[in-house]
Amino acid sequence: MPIDANSSKVLQSLIKGYYSKAKDIAPRAVEKREFGFGDFENKISFRHKAFKDAASLQEYLAASAPAYVSYSSAHYSYPDARPMENKKIIGAELVFDLDASDLHLSCQKEHGTGWVCDNCLSSVKKETIRLIEDFLIPDFGFSKSELEVNFSGNRGYHVHVYGDNVFKLDANGRKEISGYISGNEMDPRSIFPTLGIRGVQLRGPRPTDKGWGGKFAKAFIGRLNTGIGALAELGIERSIASKMERKRAEIILGITMGNWDKVDIPKKAEFWSSVISSMVIKQSDSIDRNVTNDPYHLIRLQNSIHGSTGLIAKKFALAEIDRFDPMKDAIAFGKEPIRVNASAPRFHMGGEEFGPFDNSTVELPAYAAAYLIMKEKGTMK
Ligand SMILES: [Zn+2]
Repeated sequence: MPIDANSSKVLQSLIKGYYSKAKDIAPRAVEKREFGFGDFENKISFRHKAFKDAASLQEYLAASAPAYVSYSSAHYSYPDARPMENKKIIGAELVFDLDASDLHLSCQKEHGTGWVCDNCLSSVKKETIRLIEDFLIPDFGFSKSELEVNFSGNRGYHVHVYGDNVFKLDANGRKEISGYISGNEMDPRSIFPTLGIRGVQLRGPRPTDKGWGGKFAKAFIGRLNTGIGALAELGIERSIASKMERKRAEIILGITMGNWDKVDIPKKAEFWSSVISSMVIKQSDSIDRNVTNDPYHLIRLQNSIHGSTGLIAKKFALAEIDRFDPMKDAIAFGKEPIRVNASAPRFHMGGEEFGPFDNSTVELPAYAAAYLIMKEKGTMK
């Protein structure tokens, strides 16, 4: 059900209220950015807008109360010029966009990708932490001060990388970074050098190794410790998985010394190649590579409202990521009661539990009512 005129009027006044008080909304170098705006139908209905300073952006937002605000990670000499090449790109930050809907979670089979549950949010946060702690800091050498994280406003997180090293990267350089992180062109022999050589012990990475090898060893040990289900998820046959579980301690000890031959597996080369690719695919899907690779892409403005939830695309300190709870910390609207007719699963917001609703007419705090209307799970009553 699309958002009706009456609901949309109420939502607009809530959004207006947020922007007339919001601070810290302009990105750094605001005058060099391209902006795009959307309504409840189109996330970007027009673009190529530019603002000379933070105050004029703020004023525009308070006056027009857009449902979606996006901006360029690129800096341009002429951000409102058209076509794109006339903008004259100066450089661009590197952005990673992680979305729970790409994680193939089992909960999504039940609630669909339009809905977001607690498990979706905690899983995508885990992926974001993994991107930062397993790749951006150790493998690329970015420092924490060059990274900025924000909630996407809906069901994911954005990681922005600043700094001179990335600013001038072209599309190919960006592609190499996202390619490495998603491991999509990885040769299994770069991890197992003796793979496919008969009569030779299968040597492989130790969990303490740098780069992909160490990550693979750590992740595989993690799965061994989790049990047969986690191994089966990698496409490992149940009979082999249960053999691995029985010999778990011995296998783990072997791996810590770089010996991956502690379990007898038929067709070793095919086996490990397919385990590597199924572990890598999970990861590569969680990052929207178009966002990372394309320096001209527009992305949700930090601290702006997301028109599918009414939540803030909230920026927070990296050190806060474990504690950050979007359903508490990214709430934009107040508690004034709004009557809605709703059909929705149970959800948590603002420290309260709501629902489940089945065509029920209820009075909810504005932030929860707006959430349901914007998720198209409710209408104003
Ligand atoms: Zn879920």
